[in-house]
Amino acid sequence: MALADDLIREIDGRREDLIALTQDLLRIPTLNPPGENYRDICDYLQKRLSRSGFDIELIRAHGTPGDSDKYPRWNIVARRDGDRPGECVHFNSHIDVVDVGHGWTKDPFGGELVDGKIYGRGACDMKGGLSASIVAAEAFLAVCPDFAGAIEISGTADEESGGYGGVAYLAGKGYFSPDRVQHVIIPEPLNKDRICLGHRGVWWAELETFGEIAHGSMPFLGDCAVRHMGAVIDEMEQSLFPALAQKRTEMPVVPEGAKQSTLNINSIHGGQSEGDADFTGLPSPCVPDSCRMVIDRRFLLEENIDDVQAEVLEVLKTVEGRRNKFRYDLRELHRVLPTMTEKDAPVVRTVAKAIAETMGREAEYVVSPGTYDQKHIDRIGKLKNCIAYGPGILDLAHKPDEYVGVDDMLDSAKVMGRSLIELLARPCESSLNKGGSHAFA
Ligand SMILES: [Zn+2]
Repeated sequence: MALADDLIREIDGRREDLIALTQDLLRIPTLNPPGENYRDICDYLQKRLSRSGFDIELIRAHGTPGDSDKYPRWNIVARRDGDRPGECVHFNSHIDVVDVGHGWTKDPFGGELVDGKIYGRGACDMKGGLSASIVAAEAFLAVCPDFAGAIEISGTADEESGGYGGVAYLAGKGYFSPDRVQHVIIPEPLNKDRICLGHRGVWWAELETFGEIAHGSMPFLGDCAVRHMGAVIDEMEQSLFPALAQKRTEMPVVPEGAKQSTLNINSIHGGQSEGDADFTGLPSPCVPDSCRMVIDRRFLLEENIDDVQAEVLEVLKTVEGRRNKFRYDLRELHRVLPTMTEKDAPVVRTVAKAIAETMGREAEYVVSPGTYDQKHIDRIGKLKNCIAYGPGILDLAHKPDEYVGVDDMLDSAKVMGRSLIELLARPCESSLNKGGSHAFA
C-alpha cells in the first residue's frame, strides 16, 4: 500500500529528530517520588505538539496523593482532530521516572547516545515509548493530513506511584470515556514485537501481631510479637506458598515464573525501631509487643480477591488454633483487580497486523506480572480496548544504565504509524470509494 510506504519513509527520515526528542525528554529529571519537573516536561511537550497542530490541555491533578504547590501533579493531553468524524486513537505515556539508584556508568540525565542506544533514567520506561508515539503521529499527519477521527497523545504523572495523580485522575474526569476515546495504546517497554493485553491483580495488606512488653531478661513475663509472626511465616511456608505455586493461569504472563500466583513479604518490623545509622549505643532489653509485616500478593484472572484474602485468614486461623494469646490485625493497603483485553479487540488486531507487516513475524501476546495504568483506563474509564505496546526491553526498566535502542524506537513507531493508517485512514479511502470528495493519493 502506497500510504504505508510513504509512512515508513517519513519515519526513517525522522531518525535524528527521534533521537533528539528522546534526549530532550531524558534531560528533564522527572523523578517520582517526589514528582519533580512535571510542569517543565509538560511545557516542553506542549511546544512540540502545538507545532504539530495539536490542541493542548495542561491539567493539574489537584488534591491527589503527593500533589502540592511544591510538587504539583501536571498532566498534558494533546488532541488533533481530523477533518471528519471517526474514531479516536490515544497514546498514553507516563512522564515520571523512578529513583536513579546506584551502579550507573552513564549520566542518568545525560541522554548519551552510544552505539545506537540512548542511555538515561526513563529511557525505556518510558520516554523512548513517548518519543516513538509522537514521531509516529507526526509522520502519519505528514502523509495523511485528511484523516478521520482524532489522535490524542497524553503525558501523565505518577504511574510509578499508582497513577492517582495521572491516568486515574484523568479517567475520573472523562478523558478515557469510550464516547471520547476508542483505542488506547500505552507505549510501555514490552519489546517491539509483543502486545501486552493486561496485568495480574494486586492485593497488599499489613499484618500486625501483638504481644506484651516485658524485660528482655524475663521474656516469660511478656509475650513476644515477633515469635507470633514467625509462626505465621512458618505456616505460610508449610501451606500457603506451596498452594500458590500450584495455581496456574491461562493468561500469557511473562516471565514464565509469574504464570502462577505469588506472594512477596515486602517488609517486616518487630520490637524497637532500628536506631539512626550514626547511633552507636546498644538497644534496651525489651520483649516486642508489636510486629508488622507487609505482604504483596499478586493474583490471577482465574482467582477472586475474596478468596485471596480468605487464604491469608485461613493461615491466621490455623496459627490461632496452635498458639496461646495469638492476637493480630489485618489491614488492606491496596487492591487492583486483574485485567486482560480480548485478543480479538480492535486495537489488538490492528497492532498485531502492523507488527506482522513491519517486523515480518507474528506478534507475541503477553500479560504483565505487575500493574500499570491500564487498570485505571479499564476500571475508571470503562474502556476495554486498551493495550501496552512500545519499544524497549522490560528487564532494563528501573535498572542502572537503562537504555532504549534507536532502531527499536523506529520499528515501534512504524507499528504505531501503520496502526493509525489502519484505524484512521481507511475510512477516508472507503469514503473516497463511495464517491467522497477527498482527494487521496
Ligand atoms: Zn512504565
